[in-house]
This record gives sequence, C-alpha cells and structure tokens, in this order.
Amino acid sequence: MSYVKEVLDSVIKKNPSEAEFHQAVTEVLTSLELAIDANPEYRKNAILERLVEPDRQIMFRVPWIDDKGVAHVNRGFRVQFNNAIGPYKGGLRLHPSVNLGIIKFLGFEQIFKNSLTGLPIGGGKGGSDFDPKGKSDREVFEFCRSFMTELCKYIGADVDVPAGDIGTGAREIGYMYGTYKRATGLYEGVLTGKGLTYGGSLARKEATGYGLVYLTEEMLKEKGMSFKGKKVVISGSGNVAIYAAEKAMQFGAKVVSMSDSTGWIYDEQGVDLAAIKEIKEVKRGRLADYKNYRPKSEYSTKGNVWSVPCDIALPCATQNEINENDAKTLIKNKVIAVGEGANMPSTIEAMNQFIGNKVLFAPAKAANAGGVATSALEMSQNSQRLSWTFEEVDAKLHQIMINIYKQMAAAAEKYGKKDNFIVGANIAGFEKVADAMLAQGIQ
Ligand code: NDP
Repeated sequence: MSYVKEVLDSVIKKNPSEAEFHQAVTEVLTSLELAIDANPEYRKNAILERLVEPDRQIMFRVPWIDDKGVAHVNRGFRVQFNNAIGPYKGGLRLHPSVNLGIIKFLGFEQIFKNSLTGLPIGGGKGGSDFDPKGKSDREVFEFCRSFMTELCKYIGADVDVPAGDIGTGAREIGYMYGTYKRATGLYEGVLTGKGLTYGGSLARKEATGYGLVYLTEEMLKEKGMSFKGKKVVISGSGNVAIYAAEKAMQFGAKVVSMSDSTGWIYDEQGVDLAAIKEIKEVKRGRLADYKNYRPKSEYSTKGNVWSVPCDIALPCATQNEINENDAKTLIKNKVIAVGEGANMPSTIEAMNQFIGNKVLFAPAKAANAGGVATSALEMSQNSQRLSWTFEEVDAKLHQIMINIYKQMAAAAEKYGKKDNFIVGANIAGFEKVADAMLAQGIQ
C-alpha cells in the first residue's frame, strides 16, 4: 500500500465522523504523492503521520447569560496543529455548524496556507458553535469574555495568535482582546484583525478579498487576460466577499451577483457595493433589503449564484458551496477562472471538473492567503511598536500574492502538472513545513 494511502486510511479510522477533516486531508495528501515519492526521508521520519495529528486540540465549556437572564453553554475549540515554522496562527469561527472536524479541516489547511505566504507562521484554528446572529451586543460581549477567559491560558504573541473568521469580526476581536489584556495583564499582539486604535493594521480588513483578486489577476495575466471587462459572480457578502468585489471593480470588472445564507441577488448593472456595505457591515441585515436600494435588481432564495453566467467565479462564503453540478453549470456557461476566497468552497468532485475542463483554478490555501499574510504583517508591526501606512501594507500584500502565484505555478511545473495549481499550492506549502520538521527531528 502506498504511504499516502496508509496515512489516509489511518486518519479516517482514528477520526470517525470528521467528514470535512477527511476531505481536506484526502485532497492535500493525494496531490502530494509525487513529492512524497521523490523523497524517502519523509516516510522514514513519519512526516505525514505527524502532519495529520495536531500538536494539541483544546475543547472547553463556554457558559454565558442572555439578556433574559437565561444561562447557555457553548463549546469552545482551539486546535494547535503545527508550529514547525512559527507560532500557531489561524482564525476563530463562530457559527452553529462548528464542530471538531470543521476546526481540524481548517487548521490543517492553515499549515500549508501560512507556509505559502513566506512568513514565519504555523497552523492553527479555533472557534465555537455560538451564533452571534440575532444576539445583542451585550450577549456577544458576554460570550466573548467567557470564551477568552478560558482560551487566554493557551495563547500568546509568541505561542498562538488567533484572528477573525466567519462570525468573528472587529466587534468580537475587540471584546476578546479586552478580556485577554485584563486576564493576563499583557498588552501584546495576541490577536490580529484588531481595531486601528489598539494595534490593528491598515488594510487587514480588505486583505483577504484584495489578495484573492491580486492572485487571480496574476493567474489570468499569465494567459494574456485580466479582470478588465469581465463579468464576475461572488458568493457571500461578508468580509472576504465585499473586498473581493471592491478590488475586482477597481480592476475594471462588473460584479453582477452576491449572496448571503438566505438568498442571492442579481444586478445586471453591476452591484452597488456601497449599498451592500451598508446592509451587511453597518446594519448587520439581510441581502433581501438590496431591492430597496436597486429596485430593478432580482433577489432569489432558490438555487444559488453559480447559475448566473460569468467569466470569473469567486466563492467567498463557506465550505462545499460548489458541488459537481454547480461546477458543471459554471463550465457550461464558459467560466474562465475560479478563485477560492472561502476555505474549501469546492468539493473534490467540483475541483476535478474545473481541472479536467481547463478552467483556471486558484485553490483557497493560495488564493485566500492574503488575510493571514496581512495578519502576520500586523504581528510584525506590533512587535516593532510601529504602524505602516495603508499603501505600505497593500504593496506588501500585493507582492506576497504574486510570490504565492509564482511558487504554486513553479511547483506544479516541476512535477509535470503545469497549470494544476491544486498540486502546485499543496506541494509548495508542504515542502517548506516538511523541511523544517526534518531539521527539528522527530518531535
Ligand atoms: P463573514 O462572516 O464575514 O461572511 C460570511 C458570508 O458567507 C456571509 O455573507 C454569510 O451569510 C455567508 N455564509 C456563511 N455561512 C454560510 C452558509 N452555510 N451558507 C451560505 N452562506 C453562508 O466571513 P468571512 O467573509 O470572514 O469568511 C468567508 C470565508 O472566507 C470562510 O470560509 C472563511 O474561512 C474564509 N476566510 C476568511 C478570511 C478572513 O480574513 N476573514 C481569511 C481566509 C479565509 P450571512 O450574512 O447570512 O451570515
């Protein structure tokens, strides 16, 4: 049996009912086979067995009291996956669907994504099954304080530096930072995505969406194309989606469709991003309200955005949001490029469709790495006690995304898989971590 198959079988056996974790490990390990076979040291040093087993996984109770005085208990998670190349780094997801398997898939992906940024950050992820939607500010504060009262025992600026993710935005990061500071007495860069008045970085908010478009543009450029004049469809209308739309428009594209977890809009004229920002960022409302701003637009709760014909698709909502049929529809409608803003938004079958049909496909761990890269730049500024300008951070982000594209393209070509950026990104991210693990001995 091949080394990869052996490790995959054992992951599935040892971690039953963690479907998303199985999916992520299968996707990564199968595409690493060429690199693994080329270096017998990996097997000799149990590199894969050690990569798929987190350094530690922390689960804890998060009790809090709602506005009516009723007590609730959520479950908190932090999975510290691998710190071979730097302190653990990865976001905190607050969503009712959160469970250990989802946090592990995200933490596992994060190892390779962080490595691709070229910055010294290891992989981790955390969160809770708490749903901030529909809660008052006080309830969110209560939850965040309780969550961080426990989590603060395990993190630190040189240990593990969490950030935002689905459901964890500026408000939640602020409440958690305040609690960390109070509980530990430390004023340090323990979280990223902080507000600008207390150590946050300019351009962090925009970074994942902008970075996604920078990398996708680079991929198009290699084929003599660009965003200019292209029709773009984006799922989600959260942090990643909004700033991907903003940069795509700045590059001359027309974004015609966006969505949230209840429905999606189609606006033939190109979406009014100021309206979307007001609905989602200011009012924390629903996209159904978009019609009040643009009466001629369409809103639907049936089907999804992938039925809208487009040149470029940017999934920016959540995992497994593009299945095989969605991929076939996009291909039938002649999509040229897909850039993954969300983590693992395409199923394995959907990815195979894109690669098999020569759609330019930028996988999440490369395409959405701009967020964590800028988080690492926030860490650098905190350590130096300095703040860089928006332009400085944005220029560094742009260069990092170009470098990621070059690394994944080169790795794909080196192993005879030109333009297969799934293989390219996985191998390029893996080799650096594996080399560091080899150098540090079996730990
Ligand atoms: P937000 O919470 O800001 O936005 C998420 C968006 O996706 C919202 O519009 C939300 O709809 C929608 N959504 C969430 N869950 C579902 C679901 N199950 N079905 C349909 N729609 C859904 O999150 P982010 O923009 O920060 O994150 C989006 C994705 O990008 C995630 O996969 C995240 O892991 C990934 N990512 C984020 C980074 C960041 O810097 N923020 C960095 C790298 C990756 P609604 O408004 O109804 O809740």
